[in-house]
Amino acid sequence: MEYEILTGKKILIVEDDLASRLYLNKILEKTGAILFNSGDGKDAVEVVRRNPDMDLILMDIQLPVMDGYAAAAEIKKLNNTTILIAQTAYGMQEDMDKIIAGGFDGYIIKPIFSDQLTGKLSSFFKK
Ligand SMILES: [Mg+2]
Repeated sequence: MEYEILTGKKILIVEDDLASRLYLNKILEKTGAILFNSGDGKDAVEVVRRNPDMDLILMDIQLPVMDGYAAAAEIKKLNNTTILIAQTAYGMQEDMDKIIAGGFDGYIIKPIFSDQLTGKLSSFFKK
């Protein structure tokens, strides 16, 4: 399978909307990745502090307590090799520029589809 490269990788899903988070888990479970979950930016930073070998973080931008940009900046201080992918609702050029300037390695635009997500995440490990 084309996404088998994700098997065993530690992936943190940061999403405050529970239905969306369950959906992302459902998609990524089939890859055999080791999944972590977080519902806000501050908690996401804590998860990375406890798990410094996180391979990839799928970060929502609009989050309670601490937004995705602030959480990404804190996470970079803890682990500057983890792959940071933003998930954002709008394909606004301004947002895209801000995401890249914010230290993210890439982004994925909602709504997120299964093959698109596994393909995109896999591509970062093939580089
Ligand atoms: Mg959100």
